[in-house]
Amino acid sequence: ELVRRMVVLGYRGVGKTSAIHRFLEDEFIEMYYPTVELVHDQKISVGGVEYEVHIIDSAGQDEFSLLDTRYAVDIDVYVIAFSVVARKSFEMARIIRDKILDLTGTESVTMVLVGNKIDLKDQRTVTYEEAEALAKEFGCPYIETSAKTNNNIRELFVKSVSETTKQ
Ligand code: GDP
Repeated sequence: ELVRRMVVLGYRGVGKTSAIHRFLEDEFIEMYYPTVELVHDQKISVGGVEYEVHIIDSAGQDEFSLLDTRYAVDIDVYVIAFSVVARKSFEMARIIRDKILDLTGTESVTMVLVGNKIDLKDQRTVTYEEAEALAKEFGCPYIETSAKTNNNIRELFVKSVSETTKQ
């Protein structure tokens, strides 16, 4: 069986739980519940191949928290999420990436950068161009989503699994 382990990382409040919930239940909840780490299992088909994906919803990271070592072992793809309306969460993306590289002790890991909350157009503080430039520097794809309007959410998960199939 084809199993993939995916972890969703990012500063608190960027919409990690909302994006996963939108993908799995096709629902959006306005309430903010601080995340308790949870693993969800979901079948995702990519190019006609079905993968069993374990999606780990991390509790969130900041510059002072250590990255949980469980997020470093046996992870096939790291999804680093930020909010396009929260500059600080964008800056955290680089810190999180550095922590991953530190923990894994490798130079390259499979990763996807995600800018969420694109429905809040008027409040954007991170442009598409600069986020794309950061992803380019990371050597990973950049995708923009809204868990609220269900924009690109399925694409995000399919893309993330699809990245694990490349070598
Ligand atoms: P987490 O801490 O990263 O898991 O963030 P949550 O999923 O708990 O979301 C934090 C807050 O942002 C909640 O109030 C959500 O309803 C809201 N939120 C999440 N995604 C979106 C989005 O795409 N658009 C908007 N407008 N709000 C969102």
